[in-house]
Amino acid sequence: MAGVRRGAKGAALIRFGFALDARAHDDARDAVRAMARHRAHAAKWMEPMGAGIERPVTTAQLIRLADAAFVFWVDSTCRRCKGRKEGLVKDEGGGRRALSGTACPSCHGSGKRAFQMRTRFWQARGLEVLAMINDEIARTERAVGRRLRNGS
Ligand SMILES: [Zn+2]
Repeated sequence: MAGVRRGAKGAALIRFGFALDARAHDDARDAVRAMARHRAHAAKWMEPMGAGIERPVTTAQLIRLADAAFVFWVDSTCRRCKGRKEGLVKDEGGGRRALSGTACPSCHGSGKRAFQMRTRFWQARGLEVLAMINDEIARTERAVGRRLRNGS
C-alpha cells in the first residue's frame, strides 16, 4: 500500500473509475486507503469520544473509511430508484411497473444517493477522502496533459 507511487494513485483511479479496467480495482482501492492514511497522519485525525476525550483513529477505521468513500465514488447511484430519479408505482397486474412521475423519495429526484457515515466526524473525514480522490484524478490528468504537450 505504501508502495503506490505518487501519480500511480491517480492513474489507478482513472483506469478503474473511467476506463473500467477491472484489473485496476485493487490498485485504485489501495490508492484511496493510502491517501486516507497519509491525510490522517499529516492532519493528526483524532476521533471525538465525548466529554472532550479524543483518540487517534486506527488503521482499521481508516481502511473502513477509505473503502466506504471508494465504493461511493465508484457508484453513487440511488439504491431505491436505481438512478431513474422517480419512484415506481405498484404493479397493477401484468408484471409491468410504471414510473410514478414524482421524485424518488430517497434521492429527491437526483438519482444519486447521499454519502453517509455513522457520525459527524467520520462523515466529514469521508467527504475529505472523496475530495482527495477528485483532486488526485485532476492532478494526474494535468500531469498527463503536460507530458502529451511536451511530447515525452
Ligand atoms: Zn432515488
